[in-house]
Amino acid sequence: MLSFCPLASGSNGNACCVSSARTAVLIDAGLPGRTIEALLHENNLSPDSLSAILVTHEHTDHIAGVGVLSRKYGLPVYANAATWAAMEARLGEIRPQNVRVFETGQDFYIKDICVNPIPISHDAAEPVGYAMMSGANKLVMLTDLGFMPDYALDAAEYADAIVIESNHDVELVKNGPYPGQLKRRILSSRGHLSNADCGKALVKLFSRGVRTAILGHLSKDNNNEALAMETVVEALRLSDIMEMKLSVARRA
Ligand SMILES: [Zn+2]
Ligand SMILES: [Zn+2]
Repeated sequence: MLSFCPLASGSNGNACCVSSARTAVLIDAGLPGRTIEALLHENNLSPDSLSAILVTHEHTDHIAGVGVLSRKYGLPVYANAATWAAMEARLGEIRPQNVRVFETGQDFYIKDICVNPIPISHDAAEPVGYAMMSGANKLVMLTDLGFMPDYALDAAEYADAIVIESNHDVELVKNGPYPGQLKRRILSSRGHLSNADCGKALVKLFSRGVRTAILGHLSKDNNNEALAMETVVEALRLSDIMEMKLSVARRA
């Protein structure tokens, strides 16, 4: 049995724990080490039970606690070569045996969890989402992406649950206080997924067998939980889909 526990999600810090029968891993550790320890304990999880940290991309909100946690708990850190090159100087010393390099698109195992890094489009060196499989279970994490490619939907087919980005309301970004360059970045194909695009992706995922979704990486200034939910529910309703179980991953 695989289970998801999103500890924190958003531009102020990301960390998500995935637990199997035999182990647990963190996807991203983008908050101070001590904050992540506290969040794990709050969710009845122990940092001692972790086997690894998987990094999606090198933005600070995804790596701030990686170095500290790797050193303190002897955790291997998994990322592709381009992400390692972009983040290494900011992690501090990582023991050589804990530097693990994967190829995007190629599966690998951490104990009983099969990990599939999915390429995505975002303004980082080589960003990925993750599909994680153990036994008959599959969980998928897709946040920090400018658009949802078809192959990512295929990779998420029949997932028991997906954490999917529902970053912003497009009109709130357009009419909001951010400088033009930042607005263009957020809305670009290398930015973040809007509530409307998240809704469209979930309609497609429903037809691929997905029934549980956790909306993640919500913007503080250009979104709120009620608006994200409402937009996604409406997109599903327009396709006569009422059976999707939805929740929102909290910001730190
Ligand atoms: Zn992020
Ligand atoms: Zn990012």
